[in-house]
Amino acid sequence: MSGQIYDVWLSLGSNLGNRYENLMGGVAFLLANGLAFRNCSGIYETEPVGYTDQPPFYNMAVHCSTSLEPLELLEVCRQAEREYKRERNLRWGPRTLDVDILLIGDLTINLPDLTVPHPRMGERAFVLGPLGEMGISLLAKWGLPWIHEGIVLKIPAADVKMNIAGE
Ligand code: ATP
Ligand code: CA
Ligand code: CA
Repeated sequence: MSGQIYDVWLSLGSNLGNRYENLMGGVAFLLANGLAFRNCSGIYETEPVGYTDQPPFYNMAVHCSTSLEPLELLEVCRQAEREYKRERNLRWGPRTLDVDILLIGDLTINLPDLTVPHPRMGERAFVLGPLGEMGISLLAKWGLPWIHEGIVLKIPAADVKMNIAGE
């Protein structure tokens, strides 16, 4: 449908290089490419899951609105990753920037390249912790728990927002 504005929730992660700068650069890229900032979580330090022999991550969740259609949004997320010269060598391996789409309004999407809600978000403290910080009711709506064990708040949301606003 054209002309629709979507509320979208994204998850950003980084565990290579300057993790804070990577996340902030990733958000800036999104805001320069069709997304409008609504809200964000703080930045959490989290231990890697899946492939555990890699450095700890910085993770955050961001709430934006956009008129981009879902596949256009995915392309912008992939471009943000490319900006940071992410190399896809190892599944769940270290990366300068990962941008995942968690939720797009009320949509459920099952396309070859895009599944929404993100299929693995319900078991990931590094996603559910930051997301829950922005609104438990959102998690409840999707039947998701607020898991935040093993994640450590490093930078409060207020400081992150100040940075994003360029203050
Ligand atoms: P995970 O998806 O388990 O977090 P990952 O983030 O390491 O793993 P990537 O290599 O970044 O996986 O993504 C591989 C592909 O997943 C993307 O190119 C994209 O086409 C697809 N994909 C499917 N659903 C989504 C989604 N909701 N958000 C982002 N990418 C998605
Ligand atoms: Ca991911
Ligand atoms: Ca990803």
